[in-house]
Amino acid sequence: MEVFSQRRTKFIARLKDKQIEAALIMNPSSIYYLTGLFSNPHERFLGLFLFSDGDSAMIVPALEHDVAATYLDRISSYSDSEGPVAAIQQLFNEHKVKKLGVEKEFISLERAELLKEIIPDIVFHSISEELHRMRSIKDHQEIEYLRHAAQIVDEVVREGISRVRRGMTERELANELEWIAKKLGSPSMSFATTVLSGAKSAAPHGKPDDAPILENEYLLLDLGVIYKGYCSDITRTFMVGEGTKKHQEIYELVLTANQRAIENTRPGVTLAQLDLTARQVISQSGYGSYFTHRLGHGLGLEIHEYPSVHSENHDDVQTGLVFTIEPGIYLPGFGGVRIEDDVLVTADGVEVLTQYPKDWSSSIIFLE
Ligand code: MN
Ligand code: MN
Repeated sequence: MEVFSQRRTKFIARLKDKQIEAALIMNPSSIYYLTGLFSNPHERFLGLFLFSDGDSAMIVPALEHDVAATYLDRISSYSDSEGPVAAIQQLFNEHKVKKLGVEKEFISLERAELLKEIIPDIVFHSISEELHRMRSIKDHQEIEYLRHAAQIVDEVVREGISRVRRGMTERELANELEWIAKKLGSPSMSFATTVLSGAKSAAPHGKPDDAPILENEYLLLDLGVIYKGYCSDITRTFMVGEGTKKHQEIYELVLTANQRAIENTRPGVTLAQLDLTARQVISQSGYGSYFTHRLGHGLGLEIHEYPSVHSENHDDVQTGLVFTIEPGIYLPGFGGVRIEDDVLVTADGVEVLTQYPKDWSSSIIFLE
């Protein structure tokens, strides 16, 4: 488990730089990143404490004790009837802490108040940005997992689309896709599978229902799988039947926007520039107001993580970042097209992890 202890050491060094005496990590994905333990404690308290003197400890529910002990030397546990207060108190007796780093977007007010009862003069300091920036640069092993998650989802789309039949509903196809993913060795999806037919495809976050897949309309699939904790995320929009000139025009525009952004991805450009590159393609053709969301988002242990790829994020694109490029055009009453790929930034450019074909002719399918 050397990789995890190296990450802890690196993170603790950053705490020291900022004169933060300790950090309490509670997001299960971040706990996994720093220890190798993946556990969703639901409402129970599960926290990783990192101290600037180098100590690490985890407080876990009693039922998690033995598993947690295989990941970290120092584990304290508590039963459901005792609760975690005594264990937390004990750690703070050993380490004098006034400034505590927390993930402010993750810790609940209830937990924050509990900590304030234990140490009345405690000051919370956000460590989310440090942690998310660290998590955003993927190492060799993480890249292997992300590559594999993308390969699986490519295969899920391939097999799923070959099973589309006349009369099949959106929900049936969504179920089919998730079943194929399981069969291919991915026990869970990274989010609920989206299948949208016809005018519904114009809703970027629409939900599949019992409507049948329509002919001469778009069919939009957005899905991802988790492989060894790491997420993939792909969108392909299919044309069911030949479609009209307008269907093709919108599709080709979104495809060009997707390709331009990918071609421009390399270390040194900014994330904002990538968003604007794609947006310009769409705006120049008069559809700018129908591209209603950011270009993309980082992905890794979570389906949405740092960086957010939008027109005001002036951070540099860096080697090792993995994020999505997913421009779209959504025309109410007509339908929407989104084409989403996962990309890895390499030293001299980009590796596109999702490889399912996306040219117009491969998007055309016929119902049997
Ligand atoms: Mn997606
Ligand atoms: Mn996405």
